Amino acid sequence: MYSRRQSTPFISVVVPVYNESLVIEHTYQRLRSVLEQLSTLYEVIFVNDGSQDDTQAKLLRLVHLQPEVKVVELSRNFGHQIAVTAGIEHAQGDVVVLIDADLQDPPELIAQFLDKWRQGYDVVYAVRVQREGESWFKRWSAGRFYRFLNRATDVQIPLDTGDFRLMNRNVVDSLLAMHERHRFIRGLVSWVGFEQIGIPYVRAERVAGVSKYPLRKMVRFAVDGVTSFSHRPLQWASKLGFSSSILGFVGILAILYMKLFTHSVVRGWTSLMVVVLFLGGVQLLVLGILGEYIGRIYDEVRARPLYFVKGLYNFKHGSETSRD
Ligand code: UDP
Ligand code: MG
Repeated sequence: MYSRRQSTPFISVVVPVYNESLVIEHTYQRLRSVLEQLSTLYEVIFVNDGSQDDTQAKLLRLVHLQPEVKVVELSRNFGHQIAVTAGIEHAQGDVVVLIDADLQDPPELIAQFLDKWRQGYDVVYAVRVQREGESWFKRWSAGRFYRFLNRATDVQIPLDTGDFRLMNRNVVDSLLAMHERHRFIRGLVSWVGFEQIGIPYVRAERVAGVSKYPLRKMVRFAVDGVTSFSHRPLQWASKLGFSSSILGFVGILAILYMKLFTHSVVRGWTSLMVVVLFLGGVQLLVLGILGEYIGRIYDEVRARPLYFVKGLYNFKHGSETSRD
């Protein structure tokens, strides 16, 4: 394995922020103290994902005080995965670190990421061995989901892993070469390959504020994860259709037999309702699965930009309009 023992890479830290006014300054201070100790060059890119509180004002204060702080302000809330993508696209670093704004991911781990990177790994991701301050439902559903995902898809996504990770430039460029709309970043990173390794950590409680991932967004995220990497739900749908038609056929034979060879009469209303409700359910389910995939095809063919940028701050290079 290629060793980077001597190198001092330029580090880009990408932080998506959505209504994180309560934590943002604290987060930056902790990040900064970690990054200063690494004695390498760095930039911290905050992506303001359409926050409605005074996150932007606080970010601008940081921008004016610290040349290492850069801000990408999106035109509205595009969601966590798109915000991360926007940050990665603007990152200049030899390595890119993704981290949440709420300090659930301890920045101190970045030093260990870098050690592994120096040993030659291209992706170093953090594996949660324990999660503090999250509801049992969130822990349970996340655990089930990742196990299900590995069964339902062909890409092996490491269990209990979020987006907190370090990526080498080759991985970042591969990631940016994938233009799909519904981005499930941790899956895409696993999918590209290269040398990857996990290191364990304890996921802390949010420092302040509330989770920006309500159940609705979590379900969306989970569906994106499965549909981005597998057609298997479509196969399940056809299997379901097949078994229900066999069931229907057996039912027909049974009814005909009773009608022709016995004197017992099939009770009309109950049996009709059972058949109608059962078939109706199966059909809607299968249509729903089809709809998910067709919706995704539609999103892809429209080929709209992933996001729009309202303002860029402290970016000096390129054709971007720096508004500093
Ligand atoms: N986030 C974002 N856009 C969103 C939702 C969340 O940029 O629409 C950011 C949020 O500010 C945080 C990170 O994504 O930095 C993770 O969100 P959160 O901590 O709320 O998720 P949880 O840890 O509860 O899963
Ligand atoms: Mg969080």
